[in-house]
Parts: sequence; structure tokens; C-alpha cells
Amino acid sequence: MTRKCQFLKRWGVKALCTAVATLGISASAFADGDQSYRWSLVTSWPKNFPGLGIAPENFASMVDDMSGGRLKIRVFGAGEVVPGFEVFDAVSNGTAQMGHSGSYYWKGKIPAAQFFAAIPFGMTAAETDGWLRYGGGMELWEELYQPHGVIPLAAGSTGTQMGGWFNKEINSVEDLQGLKMRIPGLGGEVLKRAGGVPVSLPGGEIFTALQTGAIDAVEWVGPYNDRAFGLNTAAKYYYYPGWHEPGSMFEFIVNEEAFQELPQDLQAIVRQAARTASYDMLVEYNARNIEALKQLQDSGVELRRFPEDLLQQLQVYSDEVVQELAEEDPMAARIYESYRAYQQGAAAYNQVAEQAYIETREQ
Ligand code: CA
Repeated sequence: MTRKCQFLKRWGVKALCTAVATLGISASAFADGDQSYRWSLVTSWPKNFPGLGIAPENFASMVDDMSGGRLKIRVFGAGEVVPGFEVFDAVSNGTAQMGHSGSYYWKGKIPAAQFFAAIPFGMTAAETDGWLRYGGGMELWEELYQPHGVIPLAAGSTGTQMGGWFNKEINSVEDLQGLKMRIPGLGGEVLKRAGGVPVSLPGGEIFTALQTGAIDAVEWVGPYNDRAFGLNTAAKYYYYPGWHEPGSMFEFIVNEEAFQELPQDLQAIVRQAARTASYDMLVEYNARNIEALKQLQDSGVELRRFPEDLLQQLQVYSDEVVQELAEEDPMAARIYESYRAYQQGAAAYNQVAEQAYIETREQ
């Protein structure tokens, strides 16, 4: 007797079990607890890239363990199945069941998606997580992707990024005039308004573009990832803070049909493994950035803070850019309203909590 027949017998349906055997119907038609699934997960990063590439590997390994091998997910680096910037389409059309990427890459197709990745002068990682989980953000994100047959899941944050790598000092907004810089999304829009020339390049092409002088400056992530690309060997000055990406959130995206085909327990495993991988990614960045920044400074990198008046000017442009994004469509307006309300509350609270404490500690 098969395990499923034993199971059915235990629940008093031996006759059904016998009938199933007689008719030659697979017992899996009645209980899919043992059915296994194989999924592909495409990403926008080089395979196993520190942080960004590790999160989907962690996720796949957790799903495998938690499901006892019933859901196996194979992770592909950018370009292995689809190019890094085609991850959303691949998941939407079912080429892959899942993806790991950043929602700001889809701005041409879904402008409002950018609210779920990075807003210049927007929320930090902790604030974004609060908004998504308990402030209504996640529901808006799901609604935004629903017409594309895609389910979003928060997938980790890099924490506050760095301002970028430059081969000249940035002392005022004049120093940004004509500056050709790799900076995607809304941050790029802000740079354009400040007189610069934003360029969008996938991670794998950044180092060569900077080293050959095809571009003048680069923002990538932060010390942990920037050091992995060797950006310190192609530029002299490392500026902070990353005003353009104060707490970038990444995404796991799931093809809705594929998700609905999973039994309930595997659906729960996918959601919980994503949540754990998301938490772990931020924690990994927090720890590794400390170490990597020290190593970069030891290698002779000059760490600089953007001048205060330049940051103030960039904030004015950022407010304009984000306001215009909110005017793109009614959905963008709803997301903006929710995002802005949460940020205002979080900022007021942080003034008496984390921010106040950190300022005190540093004195
Ligand atoms: Ca970045």
C-alpha cells in the first residue's frame, strides 16, 4: 500500500483508495503533499554576487530545506536565461516562476514601481520595512503588480547606500555639470536636473565603464559590493551619503499562476523563506559594510561627505521629481500619499528615538 493509501485509510477512506488503485488514477490527484515542483529564479545580478546574489541563493536553499525537497528552485545569474533588465517580463510571461531584482528597473513599464525600491531622500531600510509590513505598503505593491500576473515579496535591503565614486572633488552643483554618471532610477532624474548625465548600466558593466573613462562617476551600492567590483581601483574619491538610495529594497517576484499551483504549505514556505532572506540580507550588509569600508580606507580611498548646500539643492530637485512621479497616474498618487505619510511619521518619531540616540552617542 502506498503512503497516500495509508493516509487515506487512516482517515477512513480505504474504499476510495481501493477505487483509485483499480481505476489506475494516481493518488496525487487526491493529495498533493508528496508532489514536487521545480522552479527557475532569474536575477539581475552576477551569479553568487556578494549580498544581492547571495539572497536568492539563501532563499532557494531555505525553501529546499523547509519543504523537504518538494520545491526546488534553481537560481540563474543575469544573462544566463534572460538579461538582468528583463527579469520582470520573464516572470510575468512564465519563462521563469520567480525573479530577484529591484523594482526601479521597471520604471519604463510601471513608473510607480520605483516607490518600492528607492526614493531619493526617502525612507531608510527600517522605515521601509515598517511601511511595507504594517503601514499598507505591501498591499499597494501587490495591487500594482496584479495586472501583470506577478506577486511581489520584499527581498532585502542594502541599507543606506554610498554616494558614489568620483575622480574629481564634488564641491558644488557646478561640479555635476556634464558629469556622466551611472545612477539609475529617480536618483538619475535628480542628477539630470542638477546638470549631470545619468547612465543606467547593469552591475556587470560598471567597472569597465568607469575604468575606461566611458563614464565619469558611478554609484553602485556600498562598501561591501563596491569593493567586490574593485571600484576603488578605478576612482579616487568615495562620497557619502547615498541620498539617492537611503534604504533600497529589493524584490522577489513570483508568477501568480505558478504560485497558485502550489499547495498551501509550499506557498507559506515561499512567503516565509522570502521574509527570512529579506531580513538576512540587511543584516549581512550591516556587518560586511563595516569591514569593507575599513579595508577601502586602508587601500587609500579618500572618503568625502557631499557638501551640505549641495545636498539641500539635490533635495529640492528630488521633491520635484518624486512629486512628478506621483502625478503619472492615480495609482502612483495613492502610493505616494501612503509613502509620504509614513515617512513623515517615521521621521518625527526617529527624532526622539534612533536619530537622537546616535547623535548623542557620537558626541
Ligand atoms: Ca545603487
